[in-house]
Amino acid sequence: MHKLLFALTALLSSPAWPDTLISNVNGIQASSGGRIEHFDSLLMDENGRVKQVLSNAHPRPNGDYRRIDGHGRTLLPGLIDAHGHVLGLGFSAMQLDLVGTSSLDDLKQRLRAYAAAHPEARWIIGRGWNQELWPEVRFPTAADLDSVVSDRPVVLERVDGHAMVANSAAMKAAGVSATTPAPSGGRIENGLFVDNALELIGKAVPPATAAENDEALAKAQEILLAYGITGVGSMSTSLDAWNAMRRAGEARRLKVRLMVYADELKLLSEVPKPTSWLYGDRLRMSGIKFYADGALGSRGAWLKQPYSDKPGTRGLQFHSDAEMLRLADTAASHGFQVATHAIGDAANAQVIGVYEQLSKKYGRERRWRIEHFQIAEPADIPRLAPAGIIASMQPTHQTSDRLMAEKRLGPKRLAGAYAWQTVLKSGAKLAFGSDFPVESPNPFPGLAAAISRQDMNGEPPGGWIASERLTFGQALQAFTRGAAYAGFAEQRFGSLEPGKWADFILVDRDPTSVDPQSLARTQVLETWIAGKKVCSRAPSASPLERGK
Ligand SMILES: [Zn+2]
Repeated sequence: MHKLLFALTALLSSPAWPDTLISNVNGIQASSGGRIEHFDSLLMDENGRVKQVLSNAHPRPNGDYRRIDGHGRTLLPGLIDAHGHVLGLGFSAMQLDLVGTSSLDDLKQRLRAYAAAHPEARWIIGRGWNQELWPEVRFPTAADLDSVVSDRPVVLERVDGHAMVANSAAMKAAGVSATTPAPSGGRIENGLFVDNALELIGKAVPPATAAENDEALAKAQEILLAYGITGVGSMSTSLDAWNAMRRAGEARRLKVRLMVYADELKLLSEVPKPTSWLYGDRLRMSGIKFYADGALGSRGAWLKQPYSDKPGTRGLQFHSDAEMLRLADTAASHGFQVATHAIGDAANAQVIGVYEQLSKKYGRERRWRIEHFQIAEPADIPRLAPAGIIASMQPTHQTSDRLMAEKRLGPKRLAGAYAWQTVLKSGAKLAFGSDFPVESPNPFPGLAAAISRQDMNGEPPGGWIASERLTFGQALQAFTRGAAYAGFAEQRFGSLEPGKWADFILVDRDPTSVDPQSLARTQVLETWIAGKKVCSRAPSASPLERGK
């Protein structure tokens, strides 16, 4: 009877297709130690898990399987972004895009065009400007925006998300005037709202509807898959965003694997402990993300010594040591992993101190995360590994911030800035990402920056503080295994090994044999998740892009 039942069950759940062998590929992945491993074929089972990773020396597997010829193309594990803002990416694709504005006038022109094209928008929301790239080198003001749009509210977020400029209509809607005092940890200047003052204006913006959140998630997945991203550490996730992710999972619309970090303690009443992995390892509420300081661009990063280009300030300390400890301990006591944004050397030292105490209480296997870890005093870096602290860093921040960091910090404080190789040598774990939509989610410029310390144009020659360069294997490790480890997912994805998901990409060049500028321009031809192709470039586009 049991045998019959078993046979019947097996028959009913019989696979839609047998095992699949993808052969004739230039397979490349990183070992856990950051060495490059080569393979030429991948055998997947009917559920989309890796069965065997084969190199030339291996005999071909026996039995029935579907064969796919890889035509010698390069195959990499799906890339994982340890730190991104998933719905933020979707919304930024739907809202006024100000990335790359070359001047204040350019911003005004884009605002004028967007306002004309979207007469139905009750609020105009934009993001991505960076005054450091403008000849004016000054922050935009409410008056600047009023000169273009005065009939409805306009709010435009800076590229780093730590400052926002509002027009007079938006300030009026928020009940804020020129005399409103800024909250502690924040600043208001001529319509510019910085860090803790953002809340004053942000709360007036009408929240996105459920349908808009669903659209943003769908848009974000589309963008991520096209860049070969198959997993993300979803940072500062709101309840609305989490609900959109759950809806997508229920409706089988979730493709990218999301390791979710809640926005501070705001979700604690709804999601009081980490969830299990849901929807075939597509979604898990993993942790809670806090902020210890602001960002370098708006001089919100909390430094041990004053800013070199503004000696009156050391940036913004968000919490006292005791308060930071209380927040992180609250999250940890609920079983959550803790991830804390820290950019300045003072913020990093504070968070390390908090984690050292929590590591004694809960153990280092809690995998305490510091997000960004941009500026550290070199003496603090060896404190990471003993407490089990992971440095979750973004290589393209280094190339974007280089000139600004030199101004803000002066020459003497750069030794512990964006110090990837020093972090690895200290024995600490490194996870890479992009912080999209602050930077593009495209991981290839990140990989290229990691091995060269140069931007897309090869600047500066020889690389910026070149001793912090990584090997390609180390960089790929941090963008795959390292990012999965940082989200407690390394048993499920992050490398192609028997039992793990067959998440992989096919790309148009061999990243180990091209120069960094070519690596940065790598095109993803196909993205596969759980053994299924979920994205491929239009056939007409790929031959043109190839060989560039
Ligand atoms: Zn972020």
